[in-house]
Amino acid sequence: MASEKKPTADPANWAPQTRLVHGGTLRSEFGETSEAMFLTQGFVYANAEQAEARFKNEDPGFQYSRFGNPTVAMFEERIRLLEGAEEARATASGMAAVNAAVLSCLKAGDHIVSARALFGACRYIVDTLAPRYGIGCTLVDGRDLNAWKKAIQPNTKLFFFETPSNPTLELVDIAAVSEIAHSIGAIVVVDNVFATPMLQRPMALGADVVVYSATKHIDGQGRCLGGAVLCSSDYMAGGLQEYLRQTGPTMSPFNAWVMLKGMETMSLRVNAQVQTAGRIADHLAKQPGVKSVLYCGRDDHPQAEIAKRQMSGGGQMIAFEVEGGKAAAFALQNALGLIKISNNLGDAKSLITHPATTTHFRIGPEARAELGIGDGLMRLSIGLEAFEDLAADLDAGLAAARKAA
Ligand SMILES: *Cc1c(COP(=O)(O)O)cnc(C)c1O
Repeated sequence: MASEKKPTADPANWAPQTRLVHGGTLRSEFGETSEAMFLTQGFVYANAEQAEARFKNEDPGFQYSRFGNPTVAMFEERIRLLEGAEEARATASGMAAVNAAVLSCLKAGDHIVSARALFGACRYIVDTLAPRYGIGCTLVDGRDLNAWKKAIQPNTKLFFFETPSNPTLELVDIAAVSEIAHSIGAIVVVDNVFATPMLQRPMALGADVVVYSATKHIDGQGRCLGGAVLCSSDYMAGGLQEYLRQTGPTMSPFNAWVMLKGMETMSLRVNAQVQTAGRIADHLAKQPGVKSVLYCGRDDHPQAEIAKRQMSGGGQMIAFEVEGGKAAAFALQNALGLIKISNNLGDAKSLITHPATTTHFRIGPEARAELGIGDGLMRLSIGLEAFEDLAADLDAGLAAARKAA
């Protein structure tokens, strides 16, 4: 690759919007404006000596796309710069990122403390998969600092949580929980999907490892799956690098290219969605038949003080409960025209889901009750549509819900 014309400033000093557009760009000898897509499995060497040097890490360059690829490397560098991390690796999905971040540094006999309010698949990894390999796990109420302290065992090696949580938007105090973890030398892994890299910076608050489902706001337009792990050089060298290289949860160059394009507009999209989400949350709170509204940007969020401290915006996710349970919740969804019924989130299109019968069906009624997921609870992901159109659609949905209640 021809080297990029020297930037006028150190990319690390660029504002986030600038990092999102220019961070990590590599240009081939053709000088293309848009990032090139390198759909190649392998790379050829000029001679045998170069091949040997490449494998000895003495010659910079790529060997095989499971280990690294120019398009994927551009995405990794762009998200690394945005987060301000020492290292970043892309993965095939958000779950591949969570799995690698958690399991690559643990062995049989170790112990995880995790918040119980988790994305279903994250909960499977810490609570079901890890114990099968002799790694213990204690689930706690992530809002309760004492619960984190009490769950510590002599072999506790890792703390895991997401904040805000899915779907009830519970918050974990990142700085306080990181301090507890670090007092016993445990690693803190944060799933930062709901907050997005635009609104919350877990590493600045003490987290050691941050994971993303790039599927959500980073693509942001509902196309490709992807994930990312961000961490220190020590953590990478301590096992993650080797785990990713040898087990192969690699992001495809095509998906990396889509994610690079997604990042260019992420700040604009997330800002617009946060603006609309705040207005929709306030609108919902005034409607008859709406029992409660949970939104991280509202003063009546039970942990509004933590939201203000660690997030720079309320996010684009809203949870609200309708009166009348499942019948009302279903009538609401079926009366919507614009807002689509889908368990995905972070899309340009507004999406609604009923957690009790979809994303959180499998965890069972007891775990749902513990997490406050009632039969009337809806999770709404705000897209890029106009506020007026979304409000009118929800009004029609709520009218149907009231009839069914
Ligand atoms: C979607 C999601 C994941 C998993 O990401 P995939 O890309 O679907 O594998 C993990 N954590 C949270 C909070 C998510 O919303």
